[in-house]
Amino acid sequence: MSKALRLGLLGGTFDPPHLGHLALARAARDQLALDELRWVPAGAPWQKAGRVLAPAADRLAMVRLLVDGEARMRVDDVEIRRAGPSYTVDTVLALRRERPDADLFLVVGQDQYARLHTWHRWRELLEAVTLAVAGRECAPPQAPAELAGVAHRMVAIDLTPVAVSSTAVRDAAARGADLRAHVGAAVAAYIERHHLYRPSTPLPARS
Ligand code: ATP
Repeated sequence: MSKALRLGLLGGTFDPPHLGHLALARAARDQLALDELRWVPAGAPWQKAGRVLAPAADRLAMVRLLVDGEARMRVDDVEIRRAGPSYTVDTVLALRRERPDADLFLVVGQDQYARLHTWHRWRELLEAVTLAVAGRECAPPQAPAELAGVAHRMVAIDLTPVAVSSTAVRDAAARGADLRAHVGAAVAAYIERHHLYRPSTPLPARS
């Protein structure tokens, strides 16, 4: 019998993608022996509604730059092409139909694990995947109380913490700081070239 395909999904807003995301992706790929780790940038992230995001085309282009050359990784624009809010459960169930033989791992950080019960149709989602959770500060992942009584498959990923977030990168970009240590040279150059995350230009004073 042939071995089941081991497929990991790493969803996110990636506004912008940074080296913490890359460390998580590499750790998941290597520790879970994944055949493929798919990055899935959200088109319309319902959880970030209310905040103005960089255009999806830019977020997708930056993820492609960050992932370029990484073995067994690929970028999937399915959520950007799909109309309406980006629900992970829709992506996972579509993948399930496409690859019924695959073992699906949904890769998340502890912050997302802690709020998984707020996700759209989360019980259905938990039936379809094994969660792969990176704990915080080298501590093992902590299930939130809401998930304690709910059967779900979870594996821990060991990750040396990388102290960076997209929020911190956007703030640094707005100050005109050098971003290379947080996002790598290619993404930093993209942000600069496309004038992303700059404070909006003040309107000229009326005479
Ligand atoms: P923001 O600061 O805008 O909230 P973010 O940096 O948390 O963004 P997301 O795109 O929301 O980035 O995160 C995608 C996934 O990456 C989530 O599962 C999140 O837990 C994980 N993640 C984000 N930053 C890190 C990091 N520094 N180390 C490990 N995982 C991370």
